[in-house]
Amino acid sequence: KHIADKIAAGEVIDRPVSIIKELLENSIDAGADQITVEIRNGGKSYIRVTDNGSGIEAGDMETAFLRHATSKISSVRDLDAIGTLGFRGEALASICAVARVELISKTADAKMGRRVVTEGSEILANEGIGCPEGTTVTVQDLFYNVPARQKFLSSDNGESRRIIDMVSRIARAYGDVRFTLINGKKQVFTTRGKGNIFDAIVSVYGSDTGRDLLPVERTSGDLIVKGFVSAPSASASSRSRQIFCVNGRVISSKVLEKALDEAYKEKLFHGRFPVAFLFLSIPPEKLDVNIHPTKKEIRFDDDFEVHDFLVKAVRQALEVRES
Ligand code: ADP
Ligand code: MG
Repeated sequence: KHIADKIAAGEVIDRPVSIIKELLENSIDAGADQITVEIRNGGKSYIRVTDNGSGIEAGDMETAFLRHATSKISSVRDLDAIGTLGFRGEALASICAVARVELISKTADAKMGRRVVTEGSEILANEGIGCPEGTTVTVQDLFYNVPARQKFLSSDNGESRRIIDMVSRIARAYGDVRFTLINGKKQVFTTRGKGNIFDAIVSVYGSDTGRDLLPVERTSGDLIVKGFVSAPSASASSRSRQIFCVNGRVISSKVLEKALDEAYKEKLFHGRFPVAFLFLSIPPEKLDVNIHPTKKEIRFDDDFEVHDFLVKAVRQALEVRES
């Protein structure tokens, strides 16, 4: 069982940043509007994610660590129409298999919180504790029991950079959540969490970026897109400032990248890329979110429909600027 856990964990948990991504998704699923991420040594020695979400019932704390213990699927049909971010119920189990994990949580109704400590999937403690409402997950000594995996990790700075990049992407996607990221003793950023995507972009990227953004907003049938793209003059030299969020999840998608390129065709020089922060809403049955274990990539049932929709939405934003 332990070997199976470790192998399965390897698919999902390859480095600190993937742990943080899973923990953030859980916090967002739990309805948190304040999330703090703390890391030390690029997350290798220490990761803590604290949220003020719904919390976990005392009796469900241990099961949360078990594989396929998701509370988010109630029938096989749900697999076709996944409404929330998490659905495979194995993130916590995978993390526990390869690190020392402490889970502290309290629901609104509970008088007391609960603390569960695990090491390599074994429960070391399960006890009552006084704590605020919400959940805190602390992950220490990643891969302490799988030394071979430690070799594949980058330097502390390299891992920190990946984490800062990912947390800022998620912070931008959830403008109504207040995110704080602390690296060692230093606060990297904190967002206002006032429900404004634009403010969240500016607090992460600075007002220079904000100045050249054009609003995008289009609805067609059951497809909706909102967000911002840059004026052609404010293009970038890479795609690093193209953020796509589909049904609340940050994803990467060649289809969406191509649609952006198409909309800017002839407006940009070779080697320049539009800046884009785009939030799409698509009926879940029109996508397959399960094609990659880290859930970063999705597949659309009808690439052409989505492509065409996005090209039109972005062109519309660019034309408003030109007229
Ligand atoms: P999944 O998110 O796919 O359901 P996870 O392993 O990530 O699986 O989490 C297992 C379960 O633990 C979740 O379904 C949820 O019930 C609970 N859980 C995990 N993190 C949190 C959190 N931050 N707040 C509330 N519940 C949580
Ligand atoms: Mg999850």
